Amino acid sequence: MSKAFNAFEMAQRQFDSVADKLQLDPAMRELLRWPLREYHFLVPIRMDDGTVKVFKGFRVQHNDARGPAKGGIRFHPHETVDTVRALATWMTWKCAVVDIPLGGGKGGVICDPHNLSATEQERLCRGWIRQVARNIGPVQDVPAPDVMTNPQHMVWMLDEYEKISGGHYPGLITGKPVEVGGSLGRTEATGYGVIYTVREALKRKGIPVEGIRAAIQGFGNVAQYAAKLLVELGGKVVCVSCWDNTDNTSYTFRKLDGVDPDFLLSITDRFGTVNKQKAVEAGYEILPGDAWIEQEAEILIPAALENQITGDNVGRVKPTVKIVAEGANGPTTPEADAVLKERGIFVIPDFLCNAGGVTCSYFEQVQCNANFFWPKEEVLKRLDEKMTVAFHAVADLAERSGEFMRDAAYMIAIQRVATAAHLRGWA
Ligand code: NAD
Repeated sequence: MSKAFNAFEMAQRQFDSVADKLQLDPAMRELLRWPLREYHFLVPIRMDDGTVKVFKGFRVQHNDARGPAKGGIRFHPHETVDTVRALATWMTWKCAVVDIPLGGGKGGVICDPHNLSATEQERLCRGWIRQVARNIGPVQDVPAPDVMTNPQHMVWMLDEYEKISGGHYPGLITGKPVEVGGSLGRTEATGYGVIYTVREALKRKGIPVEGIRAAIQGFGNVAQYAAKLLVELGGKVVCVSCWDNTDNTSYTFRKLDGVDPDFLLSITDRFGTVNKQKAVEAGYEILPGDAWIEQEAEILIPAALENQITGDNVGRVKPTVKIVAEGANGPTTPEADAVLKERGIFVIPDFLCNAGGVTCSYFEQVQCNANFFWPKEEVLKRLDEKMTVAFHAVADLAERSGEFMRDAAYMIAIQRVATAAHLRGWA
């Protein structure tokens, strides 16, 4: 059985257990367990050497009862339709839990962009759009960047779509550069969103943010802005970590009196790798990559990769830890999750905690459709409002029902989608 197949099976298993709790009727279960629509197609591309190569592409629309499907496009050599199905399903729940009027979608191409020139990548983007132009659009399905796709790819896709449609439709796709209809605040959105939920969790627990200590795994887009905002609010980040390609090892950068996120950013490359020598010169301790998990801190923020807090290492989490804020997607394995639950550690689940990115993408689409762009302060203020309301809706349900935060978040999301589908008369 392939790994990708497991991802979709896992998404279905998660759904089934919440469907039981919600006592969803059999037709609604069947409807929400599977993608509504899938497009599988071939994208033939003229390579720079004159030969033609044929790539496999997908677009999966898991559910659009609440609004146009939304989700990224991945370029990956090991992409499979099952990974795309799982990710599309999770997008449905993520959009629903933050209550944005969008459904869930995901797309992909089986390819390795490292082996493609810029012009070949451009032809691939344009070819992908030609195959799905009829099935996506600002009111149907809105793609975005994901693994190994970037804002430049989005502009090529937009341009091809507009050539086909004969008009300007910037709301087709999000994650565009600001110069071509992107939203201000997108860079900060996910990391800031993580901290908005942490701030609200602390409020509920009656713990002041001033002096609170956080240990962060990663120092890429999410971690950098999470660190920055937490420090701005008066908190302290005792460590960050990163992967170093030069020696294929991960490292933790610790400063017990608090790291300086701006300084660390100034010595970090675009892949999120911190320069070790400059960090040491500035008084940072360099520890093994997994040391972030065993720091004396009140908050742990995994913001690097999936499967990082596991049955093997969860025992190293210090008794000081009160909150785990999942900045990354899927950082906690089910075994570790059960231990955190038993220890009474408050988990802000990934699809709520890191939903700031998709929320800002929704704002990008709204601004594009209106052809009117907001200042950054307005984007961030609206983001804060959305994340705060979403967080408390989940925390209220968790408190009322005694469910773990992750289950409460799934219950809210699935119930919202089921209600929309029911009102439409789908089941
Ligand atoms: P990124 O590529 O910008 O940064 C990843 C960081 O993790 C880098 O600092 C890298 O060095 C570090 N890292 C990689 N392997 C590591 C290891 N073994 N140990 C320690 N550090 C390691 O990625 P990102 O955009 O910050 O995304 C991080 C996570 O958040 C991913 O799970 C992603 O799916 C999720 N996420 C991101 C966004 C977004 O808007 N960027 C939105 C939702 C979810």
